[in-house]
Amino acid sequence: TDTNPTIGNDQTMKVSFEFFPPKSPDMEGQLWETVKALQAVSPDFVSVTYGAGGTTREPTLATVRRLIAETPLATAAHLTCVGATRQDVQAVVEEFRAAGVRHFVALRGDPQGGVGSRYEPHPGGFENAAALVRGLRDMGDFEISVSAYPEKHPESADDAADIDMLKRKVDAGATRALTQFFFDNDVFEAYLDRVRAAGISIPIVPGIMPIQNLTQLKRFAGMCGASVPDAFDRRFAAVEGDAQGRAAVAADIAAEQIADLKRRGLDEFHIYTMNRAPLTLATLARLGVVGAKDRTEAAA
Ligand code: FAD
Repeated sequence: TDTNPTIGNDQTMKVSFEFFPPKSPDMEGQLWETVKALQAVSPDFVSVTYGAGGTTREPTLATVRRLIAETPLATAAHLTCVGATRQDVQAVVEEFRAAGVRHFVALRGDPQGGVGSRYEPHPGGFENAAALVRGLRDMGDFEISVSAYPEKHPESADDAADIDMLKRKVDAGATRALTQFFFDNDVFEAYLDRVRAAGISIPIVPGIMPIQNLTQLKRFAGMCGASVPDAFDRRFAAVEGDAQGRAAVAADIAAEQIADLKRRGLDEFHIYTMNRAPLTLATLARLGVVGAKDRTEAAA
């Protein structure tokens, strides 16, 4: 069982959860168990990712439809514009709208050759995420969130170019940014200062990645331009071969990061759940979030 003491008791923080569309019946079962478990903490909203180039169009739609039909959760659909015409994107937006979606997370998407290859806008498409935001604005009164990169996006020439793109997305109508995951809160705070200095005032919501598997995380972080502190190696090495110990270290790390961000004045967090509930719940239980502790105990 999870015996770590809570490190906070502030009930005012808001959380949102990110899911991805399941790729198999097993994964689908796991997602719905996760959704049921995480409902107990009353998230502000949940979101479902969308494959670049429309690769998950149907699974994303199916997942979003079920969330809206079977749960009380406010559900946002991610949407990418890479490799698609404007008409393709508009048709997908209409399908989401018909399903009841009022909130989009608007993204460009990775280049179709994969991360690291050159991005080419589709000749008949939205040229970038800012153009997609503008297109969504023109289609309806949607809530529009976008991405932000505290350690800059790998394609950005420098920090200034990166923040300029965020500014363009905000000028086009985005009202919230969700960040790529990061682990160094000093880096995030310096980024936030640059964002505010650029005249951007929308909420910049930290993206929190509870570490399910450090080796996989490092590989993924390398592709996203996110850094992983060396100290994590030592903390996980101390619990090698002990699954419960690893889970406790992972929840400690995520909860410490959120508690520190709260001390710095942040009160909204977007959690990358990887479609699993236990680590997210253990993290929130440490922070004293209502509903998380009971659920963690029930699962233990
Ligand atoms: P933008 O905000 O348009 O650009 C990001 C940065 O790249 C900008 O700061 C800009 O400086 C630079 N840049 C962009 N275009 C160029 C260019 N042509 N030349 C030079 N620099 C350039 N991907 C998915 O496929 N599906 C998802 O559901 C999804 N969800 C995500 C959710 C979040 C919260 C985040 C942070 C990322 C997500 N992604 C997703 C990943 C995202 O699609 C990739 O990071 C993609 O490479 C950039 O898309 P964007 O909308 O962030 O781009």
